[in-house]
Amino acid sequence: MSALQILHRDPGSQARAGVLRTAHGAVRTPAFVPLATKATVKGLEPREVAALGYDMVLGNTFHLFLEPGADLVAHFNGLHDFMGWPHPVITDSGGFQVFSMGHGAVADEVKGRAPTGPDRMGRVLSIDEDGVRFRSYIDGSERFMGPETSMEVQAKLGADIALVFDECTPFHIGREYTARSTERTHRWLDRCLAFHEEHGPPGQLVYGIVQGGVYEDLRIASAQEIAARPVDGIAIGGSLGADKAQMYEIVGWALCALGDDDARPRHLLGIGDVDDLIRGVELGVDTFDCAMPTRLGRHGVAIVPDPANRWRVDLTAARHKQSHEPIMEGCPCPACSGGHSRGYLRYLLKNRELTGVRLLTLHNLAYLARLMVGLRAAIAGGTLAAHAAGLRGGAAP
Ligand SMILES: [Zn+2]
Repeated sequence: MSALQILHRDPGSQARAGVLRTAHGAVRTPAFVPLATKATVKGLEPREVAALGYDMVLGNTFHLFLEPGADLVAHFNGLHDFMGWPHPVITDSGGFQVFSMGHGAVADEVKGRAPTGPDRMGRVLSIDEDGVRFRSYIDGSERFMGPETSMEVQAKLGADIALVFDECTPFHIGREYTARSTERTHRWLDRCLAFHEEHGPPGQLVYGIVQGGVYEDLRIASAQEIAARPVDGIAIGGSLGADKAQMYEIVGWALCALGDDDARPRHLLGIGDVDDLIRGVELGVDTFDCAMPTRLGRHGVAIVPDPANRWRVDLTAARHKQSHEPIMEGCPCPACSGGHSRGYLRYLLKNRELTGVRLLTLHNLAYLARLMVGLRAAIAGGTLAAHAAGLRGGAAP
């Protein structure tokens, strides 16, 4: 039986709304999942995250493997107790981060961005059928991660949902390499499932990951391979193309190959822009994770209902210096309902005051939480098409 109970289907799209049941409670879907990469949603207390309306957070296997280490987290009875979050936790497999080092900033290239970011200090020493040997970005020590290591770490972390270890190919890689890599990902999937069968914690759900890059036949074949295995859910990873149109096409191929009858939960990895969440929901995605709302908040950028500016406003810009306006009229988040002006927030952010970062993080996560609440209600009420059109036109969530 699927962990996902689908309660409503939208007649005009593939969208579905329901409840994903895990060992630590239920997740209302479709849902956005905030990142708790290093066992914290940066700057927030767990109860604040829950109060925003989030049911689940995502921890990062690669980072937690290196620091503080899975054994220490296990000593505290797993991630839930360690970080004080009693609700569902999903952990990624570490594949994305490990291969980011190997292919040179895959993290950026996979999503079609220019290479930037701090995740490239480590170095891959070798990649073979066993797994990946690499140098830790923390202390330069030599470390290894393969399918079994990843599943063992995720077992010790006590994740409610574990993602299998996959080879994550970057944007510039050709078809030949993508095909071979996707086949290896399928072999690794079998090893992950075998390890989990033997050593996985009771109740832990395991998601396979669809790869196949930007190639239609490889994506469809990968989706069918993954779906044929006894996985509890299906994630879509890897290179999703150069732009949004291509991303939607690729996600559509994978989900189409699964078919409407497959009621297992579907997770789209690393996607969280407002327009992408709307389209992803229409395509039949149940859960999403992304660094975007929290990372933008740390850089002084707020999410607002402004499609012409990619739903963003940079509060550090000089034009906000004397602004009495809130980030967003009518927003119930602590930053807006607390009466804080854009001028005050700009001052805090320019001076790197922690309060400013916290308020923006709270606003951005509140925005996406309400966006998902609205989408769920629209699916349930049979009004998704009109609701989505309104959002795309700049309606507040
Ligand atoms: Zn707000």
